[in-house]
Amino acid sequence: MISLLVTEGKDEMKELIGYCTSCEKEIYCLEGFFNGVQSSERKIYCFDCYASNQEENPQT
Ligand SMILES: [Zn+2]
Repeated sequence: MISLLVTEGKDEMKELIGYCTSCEKEIYCLEGFFNGVQSSERKIYCFDCYASNQEENPQT
């Protein structure tokens, strides 16, 4: 029963959420912290692409 504790030996605290819609960079959830931004259209962006996208479309 207690042997379940041994399974996590590496840096498995991050969970792959998906890939950036723009640059296809891997987006992870790190210990509850989302490594990117998900738009209202359910598209995922890394911070860099999201920032540039916001500059192009400041109204949205
Ligand atoms: Zn990106």
